[in-house]
Amino acid sequence: MKPACLERARRALAGRYLVALTGAGMSVESGIPPFRGPDGLWSRLDPMVEGHVRTLDTDPGRSWRLFRMLAGPIAAAQPHRGHAALARAERSGRLLGVVTTNVDGLHQRAGSRSVAEVHGTARRIVCHRCGRDVRPGPGQLDEPVPRCLACGGVLRPAVVLFGETLPDEAWTLAMRMIEDAEGLVAIGTSLEVQPAAGLPLLIRRRGLPVVEIGPEPTELARQELSLWLPGTAAEIVPSLLAPVRGRLRRWLFGGFR
Ligand SMILES: [Zn+2]
Repeated sequence: MKPACLERARRALAGRYLVALTGAGMSVESGIPPFRGPDGLWSRLDPMVEGHVRTLDTDPGRSWRLFRMLAGPIAAAQPHRGHAALARAERSGRLLGVVTTNVDGLHQRAGSRSVAEVHGTARRIVCHRCGRDVRPGPGQLDEPVPRCLACGGVLRPAVVLFGETLPDEAWTLAMRMIEDAEGLVAIGTSLEVQPAAGLPLLIRRRGLPVVEIGPEPTELARQELSLWLPGTAAEIVPSLLAPVRGRLRRWLFGGFR
């Protein structure tokens, strides 16, 4: 489909309570490489080995190769204008919250409060055996396979690996926001990984608008079920969600300036 113009997308979303769905493309401008694509982590690691939960039992050193490749860029990343715009929209009452498959915590750092991290978070370390939250001591995470001091189990970030189910609490929050929303903005997601990829369709089935931002249209846009705005999150999100100003305000107050 042809890209929709910004003004058309703004009109489609005007006056509606919105929810945002963000994927790897949201974090690229913060310096976090995506999993997919030619430069993605999955071009160097095997999602079904390093990314699979069973490897934590059979060869945890390989799991930690993945965790370390994630940890460096996440520690160095800063939220960008697009993250800030979503946080602002939430404060103003327009955005119900963010459903994200990202594990980097950048939405919260930008000030978003209602964030459903449906693929978990890399900012929390837990024990894979006893489940407790661990605050790692100095150097503990530099060991080839960091272990829990309480039970000797392998430590891991609280991210969802292949072969694991999504965290209940985050998924419940996501579904609640989807049910309450009157429109959805999908940002930097190819909508290929279920079940998060099915969320825009739940909005569409209720006859509500979906706008997507990304370099390529998704299947949803190709079927003309969403309005596609080509570009990046930092470029487009701030203007898409900017408060309505301009013509109406000028008409109301312009003569008295
Ligand atoms: Zn433990």
